[in-house]
Amino acid sequence: MMDAQRSDYDTFTTGTDRCLATTHEVINQPPVLQDYNLFEQDTALREAASREGANWAREELNRYGALTGTAEMIHRGFEANRFKPVFHSHDRFGHRIDAVEFHPSYHDLMRTGLEHGLHSSPWTRSGNGAHVARAAKYYMHSQVEAAHCCPITMTFAAIPTIRHQASLAQVWETRILANRYDPANKPDSQKDAVTIGMAMTEKQGGSDVRANTTKAFAIGKEGPGEAYELVGHKWFMSAPMCDAFLVLAQSRGGLSCFLMPRWRPDGSKNPCQLQRLKDKMGNVANASGEAELRGALAWMVGEEGRGVPTIIEMVALTRFDCMIGSAAGMRQAIAQASHHARHRSAFGHKLADQPLMQNVLADLAIESEAALAFTMRMARALDHQDQEHERLLTRLATPVGKYWICKRSPNLAYEAMECIGGNGVMEDSIMPRLFRESPVNAIWEGSGNIQCLDTLRAMHKAPETLDAFLSEVSLARGADARFDRFLDHLQKDTGDLSDAEYRARNLVDRMALALQAALLLQHSDQAVADAFCATRLTPHGGLNFGNLPADTDAKAILKRATPVVD
Ligand SMILES: Cc1cc2nc3c(=O)[nH]c(=O)nc-3n(C[C@H](O)[C@H](O)[C@H](O)COP(=O)(O)OP(=O)(O)OC[C@H]3O[C@@H](n4cnc5c(N)ncnc54)[C@H](O)[C@@H]3O)c2cc1C
Repeated sequence: MMDAQRSDYDTFTTGTDRCLATTHEVINQPPVLQDYNLFEQDTALREAASREGANWAREELNRYGALTGTAEMIHRGFEANRFKPVFHSHDRFGHRIDAVEFHPSYHDLMRTGLEHGLHSSPWTRSGNGAHVARAAKYYMHSQVEAAHCCPITMTFAAIPTIRHQASLAQVWETRILANRYDPANKPDSQKDAVTIGMAMTEKQGGSDVRANTTKAFAIGKEGPGEAYELVGHKWFMSAPMCDAFLVLAQSRGGLSCFLMPRWRPDGSKNPCQLQRLKDKMGNVANASGEAELRGALAWMVGEEGRGVPTIIEMVALTRFDCMIGSAAGMRQAIAQASHHARHRSAFGHKLADQPLMQNVLADLAIESEAALAFTMRMARALDHQDQEHERLLTRLATPVGKYWICKRSPNLAYEAMECIGGNGVMEDSIMPRLFRESPVNAIWEGSGNIQCLDTLRAMHKAPETLDAFLSEVSLARGADARFDRFLDHLQKDTGDLSDAEYRARNLVDRMALALQAALLLQHSDQAVADAFCATRLTPHGGLNFGNLPADTDAKAILKRATPVVD
């Protein structure tokens, strides 16, 4: 070794190349995780899509997996975040325009998502596996860039609410469901493809929207489908370039739901005026505005005074998309971490071959797979709302899953970042973006406690939802003794809901774990299900990731989770 060093040194000091600037060779750095197929390289996703009813869509999903893994798409995700949206209140001649300027990559991502029906496919081709296929596509798309998915989700989720008002659905639905993207800031009457946003939250209350103070004044006749003018404000209004928004406001008969266009039918700007854009810690590519409504035209949707039940159908679907989005963030994080560990060596061995790193990575992988399994089961339930069991399961398991999956995401994102080491902290890696995006889904669309309270509300108002939930998880009874014991305790504790509000998180945590375990035990690789039961269903003494017991087949779990890109 010494000889080799001396001879290198001698060559350098005596040779003619001493002025060369070559200081070192870059070694032991992994290749960029790009130009891979997000579907083909994701065993758990392929299995779930097939199992839950979207086997027919395999080829389409495979094509989408290839597209979303291209270096070009991934680059767009970075660009859309590097150049923040910019708000312009007026044009240079002083006309009010309320326009937000996005980087072209944002528009490209939107166009790709909308042209592939991420907002429309379950409505235009409903039935067996439609929601499952869409969820699988959204899962891959969101791994590229999550923030711009906000308007895609809201446009998708608006359909059941708009259908409450046939006269409005007739005018808007075909354009909402068009697989095109038209970002122009012009009246919707000049567009054949539109996007929809949602504005409920006000300064004095987001969870408790009954506190909304925005007022709706009838222009002529009152009631469903009629025109009103809205006066007030909205404290959060994401994707403010949407063509119309579903809004809550107080009319004479109470809190009601309205559809408010960006432009009036006469071609003038509707006075929903943006004050500024929020300066957010994450979710950067998506603009979120604060708005004042100065007599903004809007039409009432659904029954007067029934605004919350009307818009809640949209909210239920946005909550479902939060599950897909958070599961996708986790998947991208473990894909990056396991890819890194497969290529990077330390202390003479690949990280992926070192027992402690295997323990951490495998633990992250089972968390990610459990989130996906839950999400895809919910997608199947959405496909079969004609069946009572699926309807009841959707009602109860949606808040459970929204709460749990979104809440598990930030810690996983951070831990995956640590697996990558210092490079994982750098802004030219996707990890900081995954981390900063990770709390958002947990907070919007009803924060954690609100989901837990909603779970209790469902169990109180419709105890049959709990029966459906328990019968669903009981399908895995007998597969694992730890699971059976866990379920016995849960069943007992849900039997008496008298002081449930204080312990709601504990109940909902365990409901989520029970459903995840049941799905993994029935459908996943035995190593995954076994490790999940060992660490999530029994007190095992460790709180951080990397606490899998010694008899876990971590290699098998990692093989399943690691994308192979050389
Ligand atoms: C990036 C971003 C974009 C957003 N975009 C939109 C949008 O487009 N449209 C829109 O309408 N809103 C939007 N929101 C707002 C979001 O939906 C609200 O922030 C959220 O619903 C919480 O409301 P809040 O901020 O008023 O908090 P609060 O309602 O004050 O809640 C604060 C905390 O108290 C908890 N809490 C509330 N009530 C109870 C209770 N009874 N028991 C126990 N705990 C309770 C909540 O869970 C929460 O953790 C957005 C938010 C973010 C972060």
